[in-house]
Amino acid sequence: MRIVLLGPPGAGKGTQAKLLTGRLGVPQVSTGDILRQAVANGTQLGREAKSFMDRGALVPDEVVIGIIEERLRKPDCAQGYILDGFPRTLPQAEALSRVLASLHASVDGVLSVEVPEEDLVERLAGRRVCRGCGNMYHVDTNPPLQAGRCNTCDGALYQRDDDKEETIRHRLRVYRDQTQPLVAYYDKMGLLTRIDGRGTIEEISQRVHRALRQR
Ligand SMILES: [Zn+2]
Repeated sequence: MRIVLLGPPGAGKGTQAKLLTGRLGVPQVSTGDILRQAVANGTQLGREAKSFMDRGALVPDEVVIGIIEERLRKPDCAQGYILDGFPRTLPQAEALSRVLASLHASVDGVLSVEVPEEDLVERLAGRRVCRGCGNMYHVDTNPPLQAGRCNTCDGALYQRDDDKEETIRHRLRVYRDQTQPLVAYYDKMGLLTRIDGRGTIEEISQRVHRALRQR
């Protein structure tokens, strides 16, 4: 099964991808992880990607696509995979279709995890991270026992720059402009299922499985 997971930052897409890989026994292919790995392995595409990342620039589509293609050709992807964070733009989605066609394969289903924007802001802006051990908390839904301190190591909790409201709104805008069009793209191809991303991880996971059973 080749599944694409779409969803804005904070929708819990990565968590669902992880749960799905366990359930289906296929790897989770996440762009961030693959880029980091290609850079660490020093492959030619990895070195190219690094030259952009070192400058703080976005890695261009053709490099990302090349790295994803290398990954999808690995033997552990033969039975399928969960794509998480790729494709992110329409040109990437079109490239994915071409790459898969050359492998005599196609996407089997696309799940769009959807959460109202205000809920996402609340989820992300309330996150706090421990400086000591990296544990994650949330001021409302998962507060520490003692305000500002980690339950496990007593380290100080802080808010990552990525989780500041202004940055969150910017990331959501980027998602809306660049990635949201993929929902219509895959819908037209008859591949899309919308998943209500509100509620607990378990509730969302059940909706995901129901959607896949119906595919
Ligand atoms: Zn800690």
